[in-house]
Amino acid sequence: MDKRTFLKVTGAAGAGLVLTPWMGCAPSNPQSSPATTTFGPETFKLPALGFAFDALAPAIDAATMEIHHGKHHAGYVRKLNAALDGTSMSGDGRLESLLAEVSPDNAALRNNGGGHYNHTLYWEVMRPGGQEAPEGDLAELITRDLGGVEAFAEAFAKAGATQFGSGWAWLMVNGEGKLEVTSTPNQDNPLMTQCVERTGTPILGMDVWEHAYYLNYQNRRKAYIEAFMSVVNWEAVSARLEGTLSQVR
Ligand code: MN
Repeated sequence: MDKRTFLKVTGAAGAGLVLTPWMGCAPSNPQSSPATTTFGPETFKLPALGFAFDALAPAIDAATMEIHHGKHHAGYVRKLNAALDGTSMSGDGRLESLLAEVSPDNAALRNNGGGHYNHTLYWEVMRPGGQEAPEGDLAELITRDLGGVEAFAEAFAKAGATQFGSGWAWLMVNGEGKLEVTSTPNQDNPLMTQCVERTGTPILGMDVWEHAYYLNYQNRRKAYIEAFMSVVNWEAVSARLEGTLSQVR
């Protein structure tokens, strides 16, 4: 895949198209009645990677990528569909909407919906060879809100390194439209207003579960974090920032 095609693919994914499920029982007049979504056995689908399994090597090895995408992420998608199959609920049925309202007690949706959302974002914000540094609005907001690219990178790496056990480090846009670094346990993410303390819209996510690095880095999480930062697709992060800000404004 050439660079142009790759950007087109990640751009579409960044706009949330991948996560919009099949809509069932759409009302004939959506203006006057709320939409209802019915979930089927394949409502949510495992997105294709925008690159080959070995394309991020040596930062992230091919075996890790293949198992992570084909087994772990696929498992979250399968269990999410199984949990929702045959149910209907009001609203647009988008995964983001489900996560915004998920109850802490709904383990099936919290863990598997979170797992599907988080991994979809994770694949999008990486690219073979990475990119030097954030540019444009993203760089400006990182400087304004986080004290510059270096300070951000340090805070983000620390969030990943100090997340106890399994979880994620995030760069997100908070409710005030400011960038913030945070971390969450397990498959939680900042969209889950009822489950996490710091809420917002994630634009960069780093998986720090051992399955994301153990084959190549064993217990050296910091070495994996450094490697992850070398393959970040800053253009995809910028696209997510612009999409988020356009909703906040
Ligand atoms: Mn993972």
